[in-house]
Amino acid sequence: MSQPRTVILIGAGHVNLYVAAHAEALIERGARLVLVDPDQFWYSGLATGMLGGMYESAEDRVDPRALMEAHGGEFIQDWVETVDVGARRLRLAGGGDLAYDYLSVNVGSRVNVDALPGAAHDPTVWSVKPICNLWKLRAHLESRFRTGKSPRVAVVGGGPTGSEVAANLKALAKRHDIDMSVTLITRGDRLIKEAPAGAARGLHRNLRRRGVSIRTHTPIVRREGRSLIADDGSHIDADIVVLAMGLEANPLVRQTGLPTHSTNGLRINAKLHSIADQRVFAGGDCATMEGFDLPKLGVFGVRQAAFIHANLLASLEQIPLIEYEPQKRYLAILNLGDGTALSTWGPLWWNGRSSMWLKDFIDRRFVEGYRRQYDTKANQRR
Ligand SMILES: Cc1cc2nc3c(=O)[nH]c(=O)nc-3n(C[C@H](O)[C@H](O)[C@H](O)COP(=O)(O)OP(=O)(O)OC[C@H]3O[C@@H](n4cnc5c(N)ncnc54)[C@H](O)[C@@H]3O)c2cc1C
Repeated sequence: MSQPRTVILIGAGHVNLYVAAHAEALIERGARLVLVDPDQFWYSGLATGMLGGMYESAEDRVDPRALMEAHGGEFIQDWVETVDVGARRLRLAGGGDLAYDYLSVNVGSRVNVDALPGAAHDPTVWSVKPICNLWKLRAHLESRFRTGKSPRVAVVGGGPTGSEVAANLKALAKRHDIDMSVTLITRGDRLIKEAPAGAARGLHRNLRRRGVSIRTHTPIVRREGRSLIADDGSHIDADIVVLAMGLEANPLVRQTGLPTHSTNGLRINAKLHSIADQRVFAGGDCATMEGFDLPKLGVFGVRQAAFIHANLLASLEQIPLIEYEPQKRYLAILNLGDGTALSTWGPLWWNGRSSMWLKDFIDRRFVEGYRRQYDTKANQRR
């Protein structure tokens, strides 16, 4: 049997949930496996549907402690504050530190709220990350609806997330029979610029038909009072602002001192470890793979997960690591909140109820697949 070694999983994102769910293989090789996360896993695939009232918050969450413990590992509910790669130790926000032999860093991304002056300390400004914000925003809006109030909402960012959020804000208001003003603002000349032009036009029509005002060519430069100020000085009134201007890597990865790409994350190679430290694996939104410009989407973390698990095993056994190659195309499905969804796959796109059925099937299966693992173990113990 090899020497006992400690593998620490930082962040219960898509990669580390998979590693936790396959912990036995690492433990059998003598590893101590510890997962550290301050919260539950909130799944972004169901998140905008949750905002729009289609799903409840419990349907969107996985309990990382229950998953980790069901597979024989340890869970610590805390933030990792710093990582000292020289000493191979990390410090927890709650105090204390942990030594490691290998790390899997999967701490996700954030919206840089500081990029919009006036936004950071304004309680009327919401960010789409962390995902639990969308649940809190729904609760906040519903409490205002109950008093008969209908706030004016502006969503900044015309990418897939901003578009889905705008669509589902309308859906939430409709469920409550409220006519809520929703404005979707983008600096670009169209919505979802990475998608085929026809898909973007269809999305634009859908949103307009449902009463979303769309402002293109409108870079927002600051939040002032109850207005958003555009670069031409024009004001857009908004009682509530939702920021969906794009995701950047969690700043923890910069703190490690390992090579990073400014906002894209820890630089990793095809073996999915840091280009400067083979003991530090990383995946999902907090990492950026040399030679690729991958969008910050959960689908990549999901694919990387099995490779990081395999390479942690290979590292423990001191055998050659395997290499991951990202897929060139991926299926993206936007929940439009009206019972339909817009699917894109490379140059192809289609929308309608069948797209929504497919998205619901894929996303529920993902979350329920994890939940079933600890529910089954708990039932077996009874
Ligand atoms: C509204 C919205 C909808 C989206 N919809 C889709 C979609 O339909 N399909 C898709 O592919 N992508 C979607 N995305 C993108 C997707 O959310 C991200 O790409 C994905 O969540 C990244 O996963 P991850 O595994 O990197 O990290 P995450 O799933 O974000 O997990 C990171 C984890 O790290 C933890 N963490 C953070 N900091 C620390 C720390 N210091 N110490 C310990 N733990 C920490 C967090 O608590 C969290 O649990 C959407 C994004 C948004 C905002």
